Amino acid sequence: MNIAIIGGGISGLTTAFYIKQENPNVNITLFEKEEKLGGKMMTKRVEGFLFEEGSNGFLSNKPDTLELVKQSNSEELLLRSSDKARIRFIYKDALHRLPETPGAFLGTPLLSIFGKLRVAAEVFIPAKKDDEDETLQSFGYRRVGKEMTDAFLDPMVAGIFASSPDKISVNSAFPAVVKLEKEYGGLFKGMLKKKKKDAGPGGVLMSFKGGVSAFIDSLSNSLDMDIKRDTDIQSIEQNGDKYILNADEKNKFDIVVLSTPAYESAKILNKIDTEFSVMLNDIEYSPISVVGLGYDDLDHDLNGFGLLTTSSSKKDILGVLWDSSIFTDRAQKGKKALRVMIGGQRDQSLALKSDTELKEIAIRGIKEVMGIDKYPDTIYVKKWEKGIPNYRVGHLDRMKKLFNKLENYKGLYLSSNAYNGVGLNDCVANSKKIANKITKYIAKTT
Ligand SMILES: Cc1cc2nc3c(=O)[nH]c(=O)nc-3n(C[C@H](O)[C@H](O)[C@H](O)COP(=O)(O)OP(=O)(O)OC[C@H]3O[C@@H](n4cnc5c(N)ncnc54)[C@H](O)[C@@H]3O)c2cc1C
Repeated sequence: MNIAIIGGGISGLTTAFYIKQENPNVNITLFEKEEKLGGKMMTKRVEGFLFEEGSNGFLSNKPDTLELVKQSNSEELLLRSSDKARIRFIYKDALHRLPETPGAFLGTPLLSIFGKLRVAAEVFIPAKKDDEDETLQSFGYRRVGKEMTDAFLDPMVAGIFASSPDKISVNSAFPAVVKLEKEYGGLFKGMLKKKKKDAGPGGVLMSFKGGVSAFIDSLSNSLDMDIKRDTDIQSIEQNGDKYILNADEKNKFDIVVLSTPAYESAKILNKIDTEFSVMLNDIEYSPISVVGLGYDDLDHDLNGFGLLTTSSSKKDILGVLWDSSIFTDRAQKGKKALRVMIGGQRDQSLALKSDTELKEIAIRGIKEVMGIDKYPDTIYVKKWEKGIPNYRVGHLDRMKKLFNKLENYKGLYLSSNAYNGVGLNDCVANSKKIANKITKYIAKTT
């Protein structure tokens, strides 16, 4: 049985890992467009600073990534975030600490007294009767009010998805929150009942010594498969019950997994069925740029995880991660590293500015929100023109149609962050599910 996996990001590698775990005798060939594996998990070392181009790490409250780390013998790489990473800030009119307790919430200047009363009134808001999808904004306004949505949900969704509350589907992006309303009648009611049911420790942000690329290297080294780097797959064709990649008879496979971004999968599947391309091209992506700033000597305690800005603050930056405070090895002793996020759905054009302009925006941004008026010793810019999938309203229904259609193509699978969650934990969990499906298919056909 010959299997091709296209795309060597976390989704492709995890799918390969779990297929191999259950079916050690199958041959897997992984095709990756770039020289280096990892996709959005990519670490760059610049003048002694360690900058993540994309993902920083994952939360330990879901088991999937931790399990994969252990099973691939990568446990010794695990790096726990420092305790001060629990301290987070929101920039609205000024920098305010994100309240972590009910007492702190009562005291936060992020909301007026009316805003707080409106949040408290959530317990009296009846649950939505229908299953219609809606934006996070509509959900937030309905349940906790405009002030809370604008001051908390808006920066949060910028931080996780590089999106905006009015542009993202609550059902697709925050299914757990929708479930609370549906099952318990409201968020507070749900949270209280759930807390009683499964009181457990909250998640801790985890990463890897040497950055996320160290884990990607360890995971890929643990895999017995053929890796073809610098190989751009342009097309797939069907020939009987086999699939042929790039019209090359040597690349003939029984099973093909596309772990590529949706717009790439659209291109690759065009010869098989143009309707796939239409459906896949319809999945929107948010552009985001990351500007890493390294300081040999900075007079700021950076006591915390970092900050996110609200749309209402009208700042050009989405947020700043205080990387050297979160993970100890991001800067050498005495030095400090920050990463500034720019663009997203809030202002897509900003993410696509030139490197020089992005540097200026980042440096001006940290001056305005953190008061840092010092030119960095090291700067690194990474631009993602199509960074993070943006699940628009109706995403779940569209994905149902897409995956129903895929069922007609035996041996063809889609596995990436475009469909069912963008976080590393989601990518790993979904890829594992797809690997299980493939295992069943292998058992049926051999
Ligand atoms: C700036 C940023 C910050 C993030 N921060 C976090 C975070 O802190 N925590 C978190 O959980 N998640 C975070 N994410 C999200 C997370 O990193 C991604 O969702 C995840 O890494 C996606 O993995 P993937 O394998 O599905 O896709 P990708 O990483 O996009 O991998 C796809 C791979 O396919 C390859 N490819 C594309 N086209 C072809 C082709 N035609 N032929 C062959 N190969 C091809 C690409 O080169 C790439 O290697 C962040 C994302 C970004 C952009």
